[in-house]
Amino acid sequence: MKILIVGAGQAGIQIAVSLRQGNFTGSITLIAKENYIPYQRPPLSKAFLRGDCGVEKLYLRTDKALENLDLDIRLGTQVAAIDRQGRRVEVDGQWLDYDKLAIATGTRPRPLPVAGAELDGVHMLRGIDDALSLKNAIEKAQNVVIVGGGFIGLEVAATASAASKNVTVIEAVERVMQRAVAPQISAWFEQMHRDYGVKILTGTGVEALQGENKVEAVRLADGTEVPADVVLVGVGAIPNSEIAADSGLSCPNGIEVDVFGATADPDVFAAGDCTWHPNQYAGGMFRLESVQNAVEQGKIVAKAMLGEREKYNAVPWFWSDQGSAKLQTTGLPVDVESTVIRGSMNMDKFTVFHLRGGRLLAADSVNSPADHMAARRLIGALVSAEDLADESTPLKSLLPDGKTPNV
Ligand code: FAD
Repeated sequence: MKILIVGAGQAGIQIAVSLRQGNFTGSITLIAKENYIPYQRPPLSKAFLRGDCGVEKLYLRTDKALENLDLDIRLGTQVAAIDRQGRRVEVDGQWLDYDKLAIATGTRPRPLPVAGAELDGVHMLRGIDDALSLKNAIEKAQNVVIVGGGFIGLEVAATASAASKNVTVIEAVERVMQRAVAPQISAWFEQMHRDYGVKILTGTGVEALQGENKVEAVRLADGTEVPADVVLVGVGAIPNSEIAADSGLSCPNGIEVDVFGATADPDVFAAGDCTWHPNQYAGGMFRLESVQNAVEQGKIVAKAMLGEREKYNAVPWFWSDQGSAKLQTTGLPVDVESTVIRGSMNMDKFTVFHLRGGRLLAADSVNSPADHMAARRLIGALVSAEDLADESTPLKSLLPDGKTPNV
């Protein structure tokens, strides 16, 4: 059997590894658009941008480990089209056959739909080349403006301010990281960044990026002009689902798959950031952008390709390092009814729990890795708010007979 994987990121390499772990001895071809062997992206806005690690530290497998996997990896090539009827894909004008196909094409940054977005000095961050160019630009800059107060934008803000740059973060909605975390977490991080000297403007739209050839300022909706030598646009991501959609697969917000990572075509699967999948923690179809999702869905897809049907039901989790603070989240805060805090916001070590109907939906931990690890096992459990808030009650004692609850 010939398996072809499109995209050699976190999910793509996981599918290949899991196939071999599942004793698959057939051929595996990995089509990689980028010129790098599979690598992890999280350090690109953290240690790599700070200069604390080099490219080789990003690689998810050593050359030797890749060799042992016996993969046909084609770097710097991309799939332009999928012919599902003929079970083949178009790569560099040639057609490659497959028996089973996995699409793990990830996302790309959402462009800022304003005048001047194409000027020199305006950056987006997804891959190693983007990070190298942003790092170089920040080093030379005095004024760094970040459009979008999400995880990536705030991580870059912390790095740039630590390098003594004037940093402004412009966020369109009322608070930073609004879609992902509790209001208390947003408020705590906004204060932390302000303490570092970062200017944070929330509820503020960007009207245009100004400059002759190179960006010089960001014009806000109220007419204010913020000087900028470098602008990072971090306003979300778009799933790379066009090749799937063009082949007739349903792609409402990413490639639609079932709990096994299968599309409507029995020979085509998808995993990672590019999927629109049933997620019990979201209570319906969802698109997740996280290492956790890419890895766990990759494993499920490999199993499904080998005929072993295991449902995807992994608890979501995520992390973000901003300055000296570590944020870790688990679960999904969908239709939250109440929140409760454990620990102390003033002591910079606390967790916000999100509840609905007496059950734990999600938890956002700041500098509290033990709470985070325990919360991952508690997601979905019936819990009392008093117990969660009481630091003398160990979180793991709240698990019914120590078992992970079913949601
Ligand atoms: P990707 O890793 O993006 O891989 C997809 C690959 O497919 C890419 O190399 C792409 O070029 C390639 N491709 C696309 N189209 C084609 C084609 N037609 N043919 C061939 N190849 C193609 N997650 C966390 O959990 N924690 C973090 O702290 C965190 N920090 C992040 C920081 C940054 C700067 C970024 C960009 C992401 C971060 N993430 C983080 C998200 C995490 O990296 C992604 O969720 C993860 O990489 C998703 O894996 P994936 O395989 O789905 O996609």
